[in-house]
Amino acid sequence: MRTPVMAGNWKMFKTAAQTRSYFEAFRPLVASTKGREIVICPPYLCVPAAVESAQGTSIEIGGQNVHWAAEGAYTGEVSAPMLLDAGCRWVIIGHSERRQYFHETDEWVRKRTEAALEAGLKPIVCVGETLAEREEGRTVEVLERQFQGGLHGLKPEGFAHVVVAYEPVWAIGTGRTATPEMAEDAHQAIRTLAQLHYGEAAAQALRILYGGSVKPDNAAALMAKSDIDGVLVGGASLDAKGFATIVNA
Ligand code: PEP
Repeated sequence: MRTPVMAGNWKMFKTAAQTRSYFEAFRPLVASTKGREIVICPPYLCVPAAVESAQGTSIEIGGQNVHWAAEGAYTGEVSAPMLLDAGCRWVIIGHSERRQYFHETDEWVRKRTEAALEAGLKPIVCVGETLAEREEGRTVEVLERQFQGGLHGLKPEGFAHVVVAYEPVWAIGTGRTATPEMAEDAHQAIRTLAQLHYGEAAAQALRILYGGSVKPDNAAALMAKSDIDGVLVGGASLDAKGFATIVNA
């Protein structure tokens, strides 16, 4: 039985004060949620406010990226031990916005994932095809390349803590969601890759989240699919009431 992960990616939105008022509204709405892990990934500067606001709840906090070195001369970067020290338990890696705007490579995704696991953070590793790649019928080929490049060769005990997020680039922030069937097909392809690389038991245990314009009104249909083990939500996670509806979908 895979416990669903309901994760929010706030991207570059909200201040510390806005983080505190969000949690005031959000906490009671998920206080009785059972059988789901709830994760919120605010901007780095809001992590302390989020960690403090989530105290005494089951809500966990994550970073939106992480450097692969534990420390060093890497201006502007944040390391896995630093995130852990700040109270993060999770980290998003390889988000398509990072791949698109910051030239993130699969090799970097793997290095970041290894560093996160080494520090004891749970990585949410994002994969997904662009619209052109889907239209050319290359979705599975892209997922294979991203899995091979970003997730191959981890220690099996490390892979056991990895969560994969299938996020078709064309669905992120566009209001255009993959149908539950399209998402389920891609999730099955990812589970097959996990099986090829890490074996059947690891593949069956792997949580695969769907991300891409998840909203309060489409979350339940996505969650009804057997290979969709949660969601990674961008825009709709910024509203406490809306995200709570998704978490409870
Ligand atoms: C995301 O940022 O991971 C995401 C899926 O964004 P949105 O929900 O806004 O499409």
